[in-house]
Amino acid sequence: MNAQIIAIANQKGGVGKTTTCANLGIGLARAGKKVLLVDGDPQGSLTISLGNPQPDKLPVTLSDMMGKVLTDQPIAPHEGILHHAEGVDLMPADIQLSGMEVSLVNAMSRETVLKQYLDTVKRDYTHILIDCQPSLGMLTVNALAAANRVLIPVQAEYLPAKGLEQLLQTISKVRRQINPKLQIDGILLTMVDSRTNFAKEVSALLRETYGGKIKVFGTDIPHSVRAKETSAEGKSIFAHDPGGKVAEGYENLTKEVLKIEKQREKCKAGFGR
Ligand code: ADP
Ligand code: MG
Repeated sequence: MNAQIIAIANQKGGVGKTTTCANLGIGLARAGKKVLLVDGDPQGSLTISLGNPQPDKLPVTLSDMMGKVLTDQPIAPHEGILHHAEGVDLMPADIQLSGMEVSLVNAMSRETVLKQYLDTVKRDYTHILIDCQPSLGMLTVNALAAANRVLIPVQAEYLPAKGLEQLLQTISKVRRQINPKLQIDGILLTMVDSRTNFAKEVSALLRETYGGKIKVFGTDIPHSVRAKETSAEGKSIFAHDPGGKVAEGYENLTKEVLKIEKQREKCKAGFGR
């Protein structure tokens, strides 16, 4: 199995990265995929939102695994990986990960420590999703170096001009210098309020600005308090509000994500030219 590794990145906080990671991940599991979610944020929001309210109390987290890579210690099969009732696995994170980010600065092969960890587990999964921290620091660079795909959630509430430019520059730099396989899946509009035209304006602007270069997903994620509630419940939107708009949004996003990989496979095999 060659796992698809998808980094969910945007250095702006509060744009829906963590929510997308959890719900796309569980969406993929519902579609029969074997999914590992990796919490790449020292805040541990993904870990918390999947039912572990106190990440600090967990015996093993991502910083321990990255520490083992750095010190050449063996990693046992499934070491530290948690299971969620809705069918995904989770490598959790806690605040220790911010210390790890500091250690990385002076480490050898500092950009590929996360990749080296994922190399030890990826044969067990079809999809690995990495929830990035809200910065373009070493942890995000590690996620981009480990991934073959990146998905960029953007909150449809303001014009995301400058921040996006920086992220795209970082992505191209990682692609040039470390990971030529990295491809941008697209920009995902999140928290879309259907009562206003703002989302339409933002998505038109994004399409105009990035044109043929970057896809804007056909699926938008609607704004809903039901989505906000999921984190405290430790459940996905599929379990919390199965008939709702946000569940429908994440289900459609899941289909789009699967379609992208199918198309790329076809291209690789030489069809569709
Ligand atoms: P990030 O990881 O980019 O910081 P989060 O996924 O944590 O963003 O989302 C930021 C906040 O917005 C959280 O409180 C989350 O519950 C809320 N949120 C996420 N998606 C939605 C949505 N579709 N509708 C309403 N609130 C949302
Ligand atoms: Mg987050």
